[in-house]
Amino acid sequence: MEPYKLGAWEISQKIRNRELTARECIVSFLSRIDSLEPKVKAYVSVLREAVLKKAEKIDKKVKRGERVGMLAGVAVAVKDNICTKGVKTTCASKILENFVPPYDATVVERIEAEDGIVIGKTNMDEFAMGSSTETSYFGPTRNPWDLSRVPGGSSGGSAAAVSAQEAPLALGSDTGGSIRCPASFCGVVGLKPTYGLVSRYGLIAYANSLEQIGPLARGTYDCALLLSVIGGYDERDSTSVNRAPRDYTRSLGKDLRGLKVGVLRELIGLGTDEAVVKAVLECASKLEEMGALCQEISLPVLSYALPAYYLIAMSEASSNLARYDGVRYGYRTEVDLDWNQVFSKSRREGFGAEVKRRIILGTYALSAGYYDRFFLKSLKVATLIKRSFEKAFQQVDVLLAPTMPLLPFRLGEKIDNPLALYMCDVDTVPVNLAGLPAVSFPCGFHQGLPIGAQVIAPPFREDLALQVSFAYEQAAAFKGRTPTL
Ligand code: GLN
Repeated sequence: MEPYKLGAWEISQKIRNRELTARECIVSFLSRIDSLEPKVKAYVSVLREAVLKKAEKIDKKVKRGERVGMLAGVAVAVKDNICTKGVKTTCASKILENFVPPYDATVVERIEAEDGIVIGKTNMDEFAMGSSTETSYFGPTRNPWDLSRVPGGSSGGSAAAVSAQEAPLALGSDTGGSIRCPASFCGVVGLKPTYGLVSRYGLIAYANSLEQIGPLARGTYDCALLLSVIGGYDERDSTSVNRAPRDYTRSLGKDLRGLKVGVLRELIGLGTDEAVVKAVLECASKLEEMGALCQEISLPVLSYALPAYYLIAMSEASSNLARYDGVRYGYRTEVDLDWNQVFSKSRREGFGAEVKRRIILGTYALSAGYYDRFFLKSLKVATLIKRSFEKAFQQVDVLLAPTMPLLPFRLGEKIDNPLALYMCDVDTVPVNLAGLPAVSFPCGFHQGLPIGAQVIAPPFREDLALQVSFAYEQAAAFKGRTPTL
């Protein structure tokens, strides 16, 4: 079998057992990338020479009988808002088009410490603001299941790369759904960790109180494997939580007997595509067949999540993006003007329309007189949402909901209507406001397009969410289906 078809775990096993070399695997992915990238456009850069050198190093270690890491020879695609030392990290923005970080993000260090190989940087919505990967300065990524449709966003390049077998693993970031949305649209598994589980050191901030880096893979096992590598305390991130490292692959395979699953009424209601509702309810029945106990749960306060999320996210973005001033970072306008003009003109020319819209709205929501009415009120809503989840978890072990209320839509269909795009995030943002972990996994197909369901778990119970996703995946009729490209 061609190595690019293998999962991460299989690859590292075969390399360790000398059935394959890391070089063979990397070459296989590079040629897959060469043949598909003209269509999919998942990557903004591919690290051709560097990856071959790293692969050869790993092969030498194996030959000498030295210990190799959990991700030995496994190619990992990394979203382009995660810093890679000496390798351009652009956030898919003109303002950072030529930014080369002098350091690696903690997650990248951890992947490399386990002998994983960063194969390239993936496309995304500019500064992770979007749900379709269409706001990228480099142009959109396409959905491998239907090239006329969006891959979701903002980690659309990461999800498309994994779905199209251009990498077995990828990293994304999730501020309001940016791992789960593209996982759902591209038919792969994506996990948003509990806030504080994965270090944000080296993640270029959009809305730092909401976001986490997390794994994407074609199967739950590989997703759990990558989470085990990147998770855990980091003193360089002040919001990192000090807990013992954990192997998330260990809870997989446990049966679901007696597990209490709450189906979130508010998220399967009005405005959700019928095909999505049907697939998620069928998923719930399947879980019941496997011994889970499903019941409907209502959390009415979730109807305030979307406006609260956008107010908080835009407010934080307006502050985080103030650092792009044409002086210290990134793009600077060429004209020799006074400082104030350089600042304004660099930002005007360097940021795309969606980023500017959010900076303006966020600045407004934080300004004197509006701060209490908008920003502070949104924080109060977030607290209420957190409390209502806490209450729900007194009744059930995990919650089930659609990841997205709709199927992957066509490129260009929504991009001129920001509000319509924001509305797509209605099912994903509550989890970020509450800081909870959630896994999106494929739960069905409609007219050849994947549908995702998410399992939401209590804080630091990623193991439970992954257990459900893994159990469902083993039983699913479409197990192992991949797009034909
Ligand atoms: N679509 C959401 C937004 O635009 C979420 C983005 C994200 O999670 N980075 O804010």
